[in-house]
Amino acid sequence: MARYTGSVCRQCRREGMKLFLKGDRCYTNKCAIDRRGYAPGQHGQRRRKISEYGIQLREKQKARRIYGVLERQFRRYYQIASQAKGVTGEVLLAMLESRLDNVVYRLGFARSRAEARLLVRHGHFAVNGSKVSIPSYRVREGDTISVRPRSKSLPLFQELAELAAARTVPGWLDSNPADLQGTVVRLPEREEIDVPVEEHLIVELYSK
Ligand code: SF4
Repeated sequence: MARYTGSVCRQCRREGMKLFLKGDRCYTNKCAIDRRGYAPGQHGQRRRKISEYGIQLREKQKARRIYGVLERQFRRYYQIASQAKGVTGEVLLAMLESRLDNVVYRLGFARSRAEARLLVRHGHFAVNGSKVSIPSYRVREGDTISVRPRSKSLPLFQELAELAAARTVPGWLDSNPADLQGTVVRLPEREEIDVPVEEHLIVELYSK
């Protein structure tokens, strides 16, 4: 499964904001945005006028980077969202939010979406009791996501259970950190998705 393997801090610098892609490091003074808060590359410190297309493109790239999705898959999400009932941009964000790797992160069982993705890929999670190792798996209302029994005793998950207990979980999820499991109460509403993305710009970009 393809994934971005370059520097993730560079992605934040390109978007000009913290995207919190690295977990704990993002909250320290080692964060690249705090140290070099300008775009990467030779001309990164130049002031540039950005076109309407540029604004839409940046918004799409930001959303892709936050959720760790490559272009082809992201466009596929858009195509499904555009054919679904409801506001396309909101459906698109709800689809991204309901990816298993994102849900694991939201439940607090990983420090970043990248870590969540890795843990899912390594088969540490189950949905409704069955192992699922596909990060893009879309959870549904009523699904139970849990750490698989044989993984629960690993020191990593003991540590993550403590972190999860201190984490605030969005209202569409119900977390039980002591048992390392959580439930999807319902799919998220737009106001419950706290990503700094203006989804209508993405729709404008793709519908050209
Ligand atoms: Fe982004 Fe985190 Fe890197 Fe800071 S440390 S630039 S927030 S990924």
